[in-house]
Amino acid sequence: MRRFFRERREKREIAQAVGREGKRRIFSWIHVFRGEAEALIPNDETKLAADIAKGCFSCVGQSHSYNGVQIVPGINAMMMPEGGFKNLSYDPATGIATVGASISVRTCKEFLLTHDRRLLNSGNFMAQTVVGALMTGTHGFGERAVMADAIHALTFLDGNGQRVRLQRGDADFPYVALSFGTIAPIIEIEIETVPTEAFISNSHINRLSKLRELQQGTIASNWCVLPYSDPEDPMMMLHALAHCAVAQRVPEKKSGGGIFAPIARWVIGNYQTLDRFLPMLRRPMQRVLDRLNVKQHTQIQTDPRDLDYLYDPKPGLASERAPDILHGMFSTTYTGYNLAFFVPLEKGPAVVKFIMREADDLRDLGFFLKGIISVREITGTSDVKFAANHREPMAAIDLFADPRDYAWLERLQRLVLQYEPATRPHFGKSALMPEFRSSLGQDNLDRLMNIHRQHYPKANLMFSERVRAFLDVGKPLPGEAAADARLA
Ligand SMILES: Cc1cc2nc3c(=O)[nH]c(=O)nc-3n(C[C@H](O)[C@H](O)[C@H](O)COP(=O)(O)OP(=O)(O)OC[C@H]3O[C@@H](n4cnc5c(N)ncnc54)[C@H](O)[C@@H]3O)c2cc1C
Repeated sequence: MRRFFRERREKREIAQAVGREGKRRIFSWIHVFRGEAEALIPNDETKLAADIAKGCFSCVGQSHSYNGVQIVPGINAMMMPEGGFKNLSYDPATGIATVGASISVRTCKEFLLTHDRRLLNSGNFMAQTVVGALMTGTHGFGERAVMADAIHALTFLDGNGQRVRLQRGDADFPYVALSFGTIAPIIEIEIETVPTEAFISNSHINRLSKLRELQQGTIASNWCVLPYSDPEDPMMMLHALAHCAVAQRVPEKKSGGGIFAPIARWVIGNYQTLDRFLPMLRRPMQRVLDRLNVKQHTQIQTDPRDLDYLYDPKPGLASERAPDILHGMFSTTYTGYNLAFFVPLEKGPAVVKFIMREADDLRDLGFFLKGIISVREITGTSDVKFAANHREPMAAIDLFADPRDYAWLERLQRLVLQYEPATRPHFGKSALMPEFRSSLGQDNLDRLMNIHRQHYPKANLMFSERVRAFLDVGKPLPGEAAADARLA
């Protein structure tokens, strides 16, 4: 109880500190990582350059990364979304939009709609800054799924506060376009956009063995399994988009389900609520769903002006539909720690089954995965060096657990890495560990560090402790506990 009130007080203090400079506690999403920093608010470029001259600094976006990549304790933190980099413009001749570092994904999408344009792809949450999202490899699914793949050019300030602009074709561009805080502050990004478009969204409840068959004729897939359903052939929910050949609206279609469908729908709808309080019920509840063996297909045409069509095919925003307090309180977005990584696309189903078996084996120790194991298919390849699909198409695997259980997720990630060394990290959601160096390419990482040293020769840009440890480039900054204990 005391903890509950303390956390509430801390959250209130943070909220009150927004917009004010000075000492502030910064948290990762779900608060698993935190640290005290001196918040600085860059109202404009002159102020930002002057702040850079004040000493060691790092950059913070909306602080929505789960893995603490945005948190460097004890130094100046440039709070980019609170700053004045709110420029947004669109060039109809090139289709390129210019977006300032204080702009959120939602604001950017809303602006693009006024020009009947959209982003090539996006993640399923829109409060993040565009720059923060791009720099950690945020992705959606389908072709050009990694948002950083859409960058045409970017402008950052170097360690002396001088502007540097890099664009596609420049030798350093593919390294800097997704550089997880090692090149900062980026003040402006120029991104490709595409015309708004309607898609046919097909949602299936079926078995994982049917995945490839059900994907026929579609262009982008996002699927998930219930982790405690049949480990041989798990229960799968598939959401796949297809091109929409006709201009007029296609009526909604629904088929299958059977007599147990309403019960299954009710259980699914109420599942998160029970799940929050009774983690041990997750397994039996999923087993019940599994036995009902529901097969269902729903088809819907997306609205070309819908901002979240990739994740919620119904018109309008899922977040704004009916006052759904339960959804807000109990969805994994607000109650679960999310760890993610990428494995080669065709290995996706096997890795998911492996995770299901390993997780199930830990249940006597009290560990239960939360909700679903989600997989977004990232097709094609990207020339951005640290994009998930730089080498080959990948499956993005998302795991959820109670925040107290996040270390179990790290263990599952480590196990996957042992068997599948081509696994690559999500820079905002993976536990960043040295084992990822080989799949990213040590030569690529060395090159990024050389670019970093070239632009920050005074080493005043500090990046995350986790990235420093993962790249093996220097000891962590002494946090208060380490300093007080004379460990550092
Ligand atoms: C509810 C939720 C849903 C999510 N959904 C998805 C999803 O669907 N797909 C997906 O891939 N990810 C998803 N994520 C992860 C999220 O998109 C990334 O972690 C993203 O980085 C968060 O952006 P941010 O603005 O909060 O950046 P932060 O977390 O604050 O920072 C991320 C990194 O960017 C750097 N940075 C920030 N601003 C600048 C700047 N101006 N210049 C240079 N570097 C900068 C920081 O130093 C840090 O290294 C989700 C996260 C949440 C909380």
